[in-house]
Amino acid sequence: MNFTLLKKLSRSLAFTLILSATSLACQENAEQQEEADSIENSTADATPVVNKRPAPKFFVIPEDMVKKRVWICENQTADVFHLKHDCPVLIECKGKGTFRNVTLPKAIEEYGRYNCQVCAKELDSIFDEDAVRIETGFGQQ
Ligand SMILES: [Zn+2]
Repeated sequence: MNFTLLKKLSRSLAFTLILSATSLACQENAEQQEEADSIENSTADATPVVNKRPAPKFFVIPEDMVKKRVWICENQTADVFHLKHDCPVLIECKGKGTFRNVTLPKAIEEYGRYNCQVCAKELDSIFDEDAVRIETGFGQQ
């Protein structure tokens, strides 16, 4: 008799636990949903101006690239440099900003630019701390 009661009690306790866990999970989901909504809203407000990324904190310019000249678009949103003067992303600058032809170090150091993912993808390693570490043999035995 007592045993059955205990069993019943523990079952209802377990049920309560499951219930509260479920409602907690629901709450979390709701919060995440809210967060996602607010992100969407802020993006919508900012459109079409895309915020510039902060200037790169890490970069290593290979010696043979120091005198390399690259193209940049000077406006409110551009944060990349281009290897090709006819890069479609660079051409979008037309009428919206000023074209400049500068050296690669200047583009990064003075203008805080990253490599364009369309025409200068191969320069990813300049900003990739891990890639440079492997190249220079740091951390290897
Ligand atoms: Zn480009």
